[in-house]
Amino acid sequence: MKTLPRRAFLASLSGTLVGAAVPTGSMMSRSRPAIAAPQKARLKAQPLGEHALLVQGAGCNVLALRDDAGIVFIDGGLKAHGKALLTLAQKDLNARAAHTLLNTHWHADHTGLNELLGKQGARIIAHENTRLWLSTTVRYQPDGPPIGPMPAGGLPTQTTYSTGELRVGEETLKYGYLLQAHTDGDLFVKLTRANVLVTGGVVAGDAWPTADWVTGGWINGTVAGYRALIAQCDDNTRVVTANGARLYTRADLVAEADILSKVADQLGKMMRAGYGPADMLAANPAKDYAGKLGDPVDFLTQSFKSLWPRLAPDA
Ligand SMILES: [Zn+2]
Repeated sequence: MKTLPRRAFLASLSGTLVGAAVPTGSMMSRSRPAIAAPQKARLKAQPLGEHALLVQGAGCNVLALRDDAGIVFIDGGLKAHGKALLTLAQKDLNARAAHTLLNTHWHADHTGLNELLGKQGARIIAHENTRLWLSTTVRYQPDGPPIGPMPAGGLPTQTTYSTGELRVGEETLKYGYLLQAHTDGDLFVKLTRANVLVTGGVVAGDAWPTADWVTGGWINGTVAGYRALIAQCDDNTRVVTANGARLYTRADLVAEADILSKVADQLGKMMRAGYGPADMLAANPAKDYAGKLGDPVDFLTQSFKSLWPRLAPDA
């Protein structure tokens, strides 16, 4: 293991200064190809409690609920699939328009309904930091493609810094902030009557949960986010993750949080000991969990980078 001085370490990260980051793992690897070449959506819907629908295949897992006034969406998938998603929810829920949309975070694979529903006058609820990220241009490399800003008509119209509550017919939605986890604007949403928890981006569901450290996420924050989500669950809670076909249980979250916590501890020790990214990957702190969540290289690389501003000895 060789120790890199700060400047060499920074160069090894991205070829330039810290903060000029490379694209993040789960978010970018999923959203970039989909944005570049939107395919016809193959949407699959299944009921999830009374007047609630889980729709998969739009870019992220989407929940749609209905009350007398119309549809409430939790997340919106990719913009390319927005119209198909809305049409499907209208048909399956026997409702005309959507009046409310909740954004769990700002990423494009979750905010694709914003413009469509915003133009139709829907209220859009999000954390204030989500509104701020959507209001600006994000680049993952200095010369990388610009992401955003979202046109004004698609921006959140009602923001929170902490928690909130929303009545949807007989159902009560409680949403809350997960601090700096996947991004710095993550909300979870709990359907209290149906006992369904929507995790937003913090739990990937079908991959290692890679934090977007350019917009405020980090590995230890992700672990804390899991703990906060676990506290929202009992043994019967059905958990809707950001992606993935299978619903999680509390036990799934606990098992994954334990793995992440151990990997985060190892990464922290390696960062403090002066490991460079290549040394860290060679030591592979995820080796005991091979096959559980797929190839860990991108997750480890981004998670290690996410520690730099917080843990590096001379940062
Ligand atoms: Zn995301």
